[in-house]
Amino acid sequence: MSIHMIETLPEPPVAGDRNTIGGWPLLAAGETWPACFCGKPMVFFFQVDLPNFGDDHLLVFQCPEHDDVTTAPNPLPERYWDEVTDEYDGPYWRFLLRPAGGTPAAEADPHVEPHRLAVHPAEEEVSEHGRGRQGFKLGGVPSWAQYPEMYTCSCGADMVFVCQVPENFGFDMWPMRDKDAHGTSDNQALLFLGNEVYIQACPARCHPEAAWPAIQN
Ligand SMILES: [Zn+2]
Ligand SMILES: [Zn+2]
Repeated sequence: MSIHMIETLPEPPVAGDRNTIGGWPLLAAGETWPACFCGKPMVFFFQVDLPNFGDDHLLVFQCPEHDDVTTAPNPLPERYWDEVTDEYDGPYWRFLLRPAGGTPAAEADPHVEPHRLAVHPAEEEVSEHGRGRQGFKLGGVPSWAQYPEMYTCSCGADMVFVCQVPENFGFDMWPMRDKDAHGTSDNQALLFLGNEVYIQACPARCHPEAAWPAIQN
């Protein structure tokens, strides 16, 4: 089974790059930057083309303050991308799935130290317990920290695993970018508190936000 591993490159992206941490999200024409229910613009964490999902473009945003894990029943409820808010008062993360194309936002994300991402074809390796490779990757089999947790979309379609963010994958934050001798920053943002995130998308594309994170540690 072919997959793609994602490598973080040292250099920053330019507007129009498709695979990035931070930088300029490729949005649909007229689309505004996602905001949290609290009113803050969300942090733009990363975007990637999905070779395992029709080359759709995945963009991942989360509030800089509201970052708890999210849980939902399975099958997912109606409008889960808006309605599943856990203890918060509204949506605090956004996964956008967009067709190929898109227009760079007028401004780059101001929060995350931006990097280009490189996407490399690779082969999946599935353990006897049904776990795929660890790491930042597209497609294949999740490396499940717990039992497999695949969802059914509210439209009835079985979700497809599209992207894995490894545990404690830190996103260096501006302007708190003072790095120590090892080049690491102690000011890092984490998606969903640093849990491993297995992003699943609806293959029926019943809505442009029909994607969901299984979150485990
Ligand atoms: Zn918020
Ligand atoms: Zn659906």
